[in-house]
Formats: sequence, structure tokens, C-alpha cells
Amino acid sequence: MNPPKAVVFDLGKVLLEFDYQRAADVLGPHSSFTASELKQVIDQTPLLHRYETGLMTTPEFVAAVRTTTGYHGPEELFHDTFGDIFWEIPEMIQLQQQLRKRGIPTYIFSNTNELAVRKIRSRFPFFHDFDGYIFSYEVSSMKPAPRIYEALEQLTGLNGADLIYLDDRRENIDAGAARGWRTVLHSDPVVTVPHLTKLFDL
Ligand SMILES: [Mg+2]
Repeated sequence: MNPPKAVVFDLGKVLLEFDYQRAADVLGPHSSFTASELKQVIDQTPLLHRYETGLMTTPEFVAAVRTTTGYHGPEELFHDTFGDIFWEIPEMIQLQQQLRKRGIPTYIFSNTNELAVRKIRSRFPFFHDFDGYIFSYEVSSMKPAPRIYEALEQLTGLNGADLIYLDDRRENIDAGAARGWRTVLHSDPVVTVPHLTKLFDL
């Protein structure tokens, strides 16, 4: 079997670690909630899901957070803090750079939002070195829904076994595998990096 023609990277917990606690710690004191209550609101609620599905603009999202949490701090502080929750996973970034050096196209495929992407663009140089990007809020569809996978296939002009897809969430991987993509359920670079190195003879 030929090697895949492109590598599709999930972002969170594949290329970047993240923790919403970082944002909650800064924003909490400007709200009616404690930092840990605030973390719950922004991390695991329909509100974030709606924002990341592109059903709310950034100003609508911030307004909804203000209403829900009593956040009364400056707009700029929220913009600057909300997406500032990431740090690099160096082994995986190095893998992407090796693939790129070998001329193998790489793509970002992420459930995310405008504030996060804005912050990531400004903080992480590696993020600029991909051949293309599919963000849930731009295509109004979140993994594992089919529409976002179709958007990735359209963007790359590839499908089936020509794609290999790395993600840390099983339901996302399963949806890719159901389309015939090759998949890696990522948990540890110690396993993923040698697997890709061998597959592409890096
Ligand atoms: Mg992830």
C-alpha cells in the first residue's frame, strides 16, 4: 500500500495542550463566579459548542458570557485571555515540520473558535506552516459530524486512504475511518511519532 498523500492533524491534545483553567483564573475575578465555576461555564456547556459551530459571532459569545457569568471586565481582556490556554507539544510539532520538509502536505482539522485561532496564530509560529486549515466555526460543523469531514476532503482534493488523520478523540477518529481515511487515535507522541516516521520513511 502506498503511503498517504497528506496528513491531517487535530489541534487540541495533538499539537497543542490546553487548559481552560488558565483563562478562568484571569477572568474569574472579573465575574460573579469563582475561577472553577467559570471554567465549567466556558469549557463544557452548550454555549461554547454553539460558538465553535459558528452559530454565534465572537461579540455574541462575549455578550452571552457576560450575561451568564456576570463578567464585567474589559472586552480586550476577554479577547486576549479566552484563547490563551495553549502550550506546545514539541515532539508532534517536530513531526509536522519533518513531514513538511519532505514535501508531504499537512492540514489542521479542528473544533475551535475565532478567539482561540487568533491567539494561536499570534503565539505559535509553527501554526503558519500548514497547507490548509479547516476550523469548525468557519464551516458551521463540528467533528464528528460528516459536513466538516467533507470540507476537509474538498480542501485537500483527497479522500479515503490518501489521507491519514491524527486525533485524540475516538468518536472523531471513527468518523474518519468510516469514510475510509487512515487514522491514528493519538495519545502519546512516543507511539505516534515512530508510527508516522516508519509509514513515510522519514
Ligand atoms: Mg483534540
